[in-house]
Amino acid sequence: MTFEDLGLSPALLRALAENDYTTPTPIQAQAIPLILGGNDVLGGAQTGTGKTAAFGLPLLQRLAKETPPKGPRKPRALILVPTRELAVQVADNLKTYGRHLRLNVTTIFGGAGMQPQIDNLRRGVDVLIACPGRLLDHMDSGHAKLDAVEVLVLDEADRMLDMGFLPQMKRIMNRVPKQRQTLLFSATFEPRIKAMALEFMRDPQQVQVAQNSTIAETIAHRAHPVDNSRKRDLLVDLLSKRHTDQVLVFGKTKHGCNRLAEQLAESGLPAVAIHGNKSQAQRQKALDAFKSGRARILVATDVAARGLDIPNLPLVINHDLPMVAEDYVHRIGRTGRNGSTGEALSLVSPEEGGLLRQIQRMLKAEIDLTAVPGFEPSQPVRLDTPIPKNGGGQRRQPAGGRPGARMGEQKPGGERAPRKPGNRGHGKPADRSAHAHAGPKQHRPGAGRPQERRDSRA
Ligand code: AMP
Repeated sequence: MTFEDLGLSPALLRALAENDYTTPTPIQAQAIPLILGGNDVLGGAQTGTGKTAAFGLPLLQRLAKETPPKGPRKPRALILVPTRELAVQVADNLKTYGRHLRLNVTTIFGGAGMQPQIDNLRRGVDVLIACPGRLLDHMDSGHAKLDAVEVLVLDEADRMLDMGFLPQMKRIMNRVPKQRQTLLFSATFEPRIKAMALEFMRDPQQVQVAQNSTIAETIAHRAHPVDNSRKRDLLVDLLSKRHTDQVLVFGKTKHGCNRLAEQLAESGLPAVAIHGNKSQAQRQKALDAFKSGRARILVATDVAARGLDIPNLPLVINHDLPMVAEDYVHRIGRTGRNGSTGEALSLVSPEEGGLLRQIQRMLKAEIDLTAVPGFEPSQPVRLDTPIPKNGGGQRRQPAGGRPGARMGEQKPGGERAPRKPGNRGHGKPADRSAHAHAGPKQHRPGAGRPQERRDSRA
């Protein structure tokens, strides 16, 4: 299967060749023809599967083929994403794929100045990539007009729901023409995602890259039991010994990540941090520094790191275990890519025993738990330790619009009990060989008619 076989235009094929894309990934092979055929598509895929091109290529082809309506160009495609970084990443990809087309791609997200975004909207936009909160600001002030939208994409839909964006998404969708093509990409198709999809979509075709929780076999999982109060010291000790490796460290809170980065810097281990409280410029700078290899250590919260295409790393460290076991898979999926070896190291306090059990249950494997001499915990880590209702202070943090902007409307998802470890498929992040199949057609009368209903969690 080649990209030519999928029916893409010469301009797109040229850009793909220039970018060394030779073979479509499974999600691309399945989704592109369906989207080119005008169908609504429910795509089961996460970052690393090539999903951006799966929806981006046919979307660009459609827009390039049609003559835009007369007058100032209003967005004809709207892509909603949960985080600012993802907005930038999707925009970069689309600009690359569409480099031989004359289409304007622009982003809108919080934490950045309003005026440049207004200027871009005024100049005319073909593809608008937006986080919901800031988009609503621009809609309310009359700068963003969505009445010309033909294609609507919801990227990382499960994450958007997790972060309580549903009320905002519904408001936005009420302003997008009903006559449109809707594409929804999500790592899972839990009932609430399906329900939302059916509400907003018309007779969607489902495509899924079957992934499972078997994480790359080339990843070695290890855990060190340690008291909470000594985790940072242990981290410094570990990182000092591995002074050449690039490493991604996951912390639980924004504040905790800051303190961690500070302490690492004080210990002669310069680290950059990304989380929801940083300005967009700071976050992008930190991420660029890490992606390019200029920064060796990146400290991040789950929300800030989710969905990002971070290159292969030799080591991922969980300073704190994630509240939701599936996030462990997302985190460590940054290592052991494409057959290379990787290491996932977790620092586990006695209070986190239950979280470790949850992860092991999901992996269907035991993680070796060995104390580092000098850092033995004051009490053993017991797997039957109950998981605190609030995750021991762990909360998911919204990272969409600017901090505080509209986020007040929602409760961070972390206040809920953890989801059951389940069938949320997260295989190798770049598992291009993953088996893929087209799922059954979903249809419900009345689908595609949005209703204003508040998310019960909001
Ligand atoms: P995504 O899942 O869209 O974030 O893509 C993950 C990574 O795979 C990105 O770095 C893309 O540039 C890359 N990629 C996507 N499709 C292909 C392809 N067909 N061939 C090679 N690389 C690809």
